[in-house]
Amino acid sequence: MLKSIAVMTSGGDSPGMNAAARAVVRTALYVGVKVWGINNGYHGLLEEDMFEMQSKNVGDIIQRGGTFLGTARCRRWQTPEGRMQGFKNLVDRGIQGLVVIGGDGSLRGAQLLSQETGIPIVGLPGTIDNDVWGSDYTIGCDTAANTIIDAINKLRDTASAHRRVIVLEVMGRNSGWLAMVSGISGGAEYILVPEAEYDLDEICIDMKKAYEAGKRYILVVVAEGAGSGKEIGKQISEKTGLDTRVSILGYVQRGGSPTVIDRVKASQLGEKAALAIISGLSDIVFGFDRGNVVSINLHDAVTNKKKLNPEFLHLAKVLA
Ligand code: ADP
Repeated sequence: MLKSIAVMTSGGDSPGMNAAARAVVRTALYVGVKVWGINNGYHGLLEEDMFEMQSKNVGDIIQRGGTFLGTARCRRWQTPEGRMQGFKNLVDRGIQGLVVIGGDGSLRGAQLLSQETGIPIVGLPGTIDNDVWGSDYTIGCDTAANTIIDAINKLRDTASAHRRVIVLEVMGRNSGWLAMVSGISGGAEYILVPEAEYDLDEICIDMKKAYEAGKRYILVVVAEGAGSGKEIGKQISEKTGLDTRVSILGYVQRGGSPTVIDRVKASQLGEKAALAIISGLSDIVFGFDRGNVVSINLHDAVTNKKKLNPEFLHLAKVLA
């Protein structure tokens, strides 16, 4: 059994990371294990910016977005020398295992650390994109989807008043999950995702027909990886002559107080991660599969690409 562990958040922040880190800390303390918090991800680990945590250090954070530990992107971590220095900084403090909460990139960095040094690593998927292989869920995706829905509800009001086409660009460079679930639940007519091809000419013909038949407005949700909202809006306007407006939601999608789902799931994952690493397990990521917590091989999680559920694509078409 390990006697001292550490936890960090890394890469893009996401709502619920605080709940996950809090659960790691409190679970470790509950079973009498020392736990360190590392500030600002791998950057902080290299800068030796870490402190031993008490229960009160994670008080009053479960309701906050962002991450109280801070996060960063760190180029030095991409080198074996950087990772070896990070390992040394852990060993110097008697830290025997590390929980990394982050996206794809952060988990890849964690996997390399484990591979090169043998230090036990457990990962938790923290990203609004819901794009980590092996898990139905990533920490923060529910809050982000709800933020988008809130924006869609407001955009619909103004679109309807003016008979406009609204193009809403949302986050998701490689993954259309956010666009898809928010588009479906926001009643979008078109949802453009990087996982599926689309024909804008055909869409424009359809749009014109719909307006001629009396439609009051059209909502198009675009994942950033499926094309630029601005460019798509310009083309729709030119090809259809319809009054078209583009809205790019941007970083607001990353923030906000986490939803109940994100708080509960992140807490469940945090507890599992702490117990697993304390018991000496390594090279796993905890996620969810059909409502249950599951462990996923870390190497598999970072080398496989998660696919968008094809049923979503079909549903979006049927409901449009
Ligand atoms: P996210 O974790 O949200 O996907 P990034 O892809 O920016 O965010 O990764 C966060 C950090 O993880 C990077 O700044 C880097 O320090 C580390 N990282 C990412 N990819 C790798 C990699 N292939 N090898 C080693 N470290 C990596």
